[in-house]
Amino acid sequence: MNIQLASSEKTNLLGLDRPAMEAFFAEMGEKSFRATQVMKWIHQVGVNDFEQMTNISKSLRAALASSAEITVPSILSDELSEDGTRKWLLSVPGKSAIEMVFIPEESRGTLCVSSQVGCTLNCSFCATGKQGYNRNLNTAEIVGQVWLAKTLLAQQYQTDDRIVSNVVMMGMGEPLMNFDNVVAAMNIMQDDCGFGLSRRRITLSTAGVVPQIDALLEACHVSLAVSLHAPNDELRNELVPLNRKYPIDELLSACRRYVASSNRAKVTFEYVMLEGINDDLEHAHQLASLMQTVPSKVNLIPFNPFEGIDYKRSSNSRINRFKDILQDAGVIVTVRKTRGDDIEAACGQLAGDVMDRTRRAERFRQKQAEKIQ
Ligand code: SAH
Repeated sequence: MNIQLASSEKTNLLGLDRPAMEAFFAEMGEKSFRATQVMKWIHQVGVNDFEQMTNISKSLRAALASSAEITVPSILSDELSEDGTRKWLLSVPGKSAIEMVFIPEESRGTLCVSSQVGCTLNCSFCATGKQGYNRNLNTAEIVGQVWLAKTLLAQQYQTDDRIVSNVVMMGMGEPLMNFDNVVAAMNIMQDDCGFGLSRRRITLSTAGVVPQIDALLEACHVSLAVSLHAPNDELRNELVPLNRKYPIDELLSACRRYVASSNRAKVTFEYVMLEGINDDLEHAHQLASLMQTVPSKVNLIPFNPFEGIDYKRSSNSRINRFKDILQDAGVIVTVRKTRGDDIEAACGQLAGDVMDRTRRAERFRQKQAEKIQ
């Protein structure tokens, strides 16, 4: 008798990096090359049904179907912005929802991936922080986002070409607070049998969890972005409360150690432009002198407002003045183009009312069910 295990008892193969996949097959008494075969089917061909894995024997396919699964988060909503940005609200177990955003540009396509449901850090200007913290995503839920996006974008763009060329861990959550799962996921993204992205095409953005920046260097050396947002501790304590634990000095030292290990790398420092808060010309001068101490570039992010927040976006002329001061001091600086704000897909707007919307989705389902009965 072939008893099917309940879904939750099966191993979700999306969550296994190469060593874990090899261990999984070893436990089944199979050779390690099965791991690379199956990883290629899953991540490169985009298959989620064992029956389609034609170079795997029938009996092994059956054994896999009873002990493993390839399951991605389900879609609660799927919105397309006028500028081509696409945002998904995804459901994950525990009545939770996360958001994922795809940003197409001329020379690349960037997928912005979530690492946690909510966030513990509570940065004062961020919508995710306002909704509180629910839990870490597991590796399969992080990798599942990339798998799902690749599949859906291939349908949208009618091609299997590399539509997702870059991944940024800049969605909901603080990736370094979910270290092991995020590292395993980024390793799968880089693996030749996985998504095969080069490490400079994967960027991890952190509010500055100093010990984990050092640990990242050992575990998975991807591009690093740091959410700085203020050029002195007094102001940063207010905007990014994590700064009380890891002040700017310690943070910049960790960044120096990170780039020292690679002779070309720079750290990107993100700086959200908040009118009358951190956009004084004095702040620009302070930031410029901090930037002299680390191989760096600065990305100025015009603040994206959301319901219930008092901050305002700095004017364009203010942002340009700020940029000029940095540039005059020799700092490499760009201003982030705001994308997808018509569908609330811009930085910092993710899942501000996720719980609400999840409930809304539930109510919708209930109504549909009532109609059918
Ligand atoms: N926790 C990580 C990654 C998530 S946030 C981090 O702090 O880096 C991704 C980026 O969006 C961060 O730089 C964050 O500070 C910025 N951000 C958050 N809220 C924003 C908002 N309302 N407007 C513009 N950028 C915002």
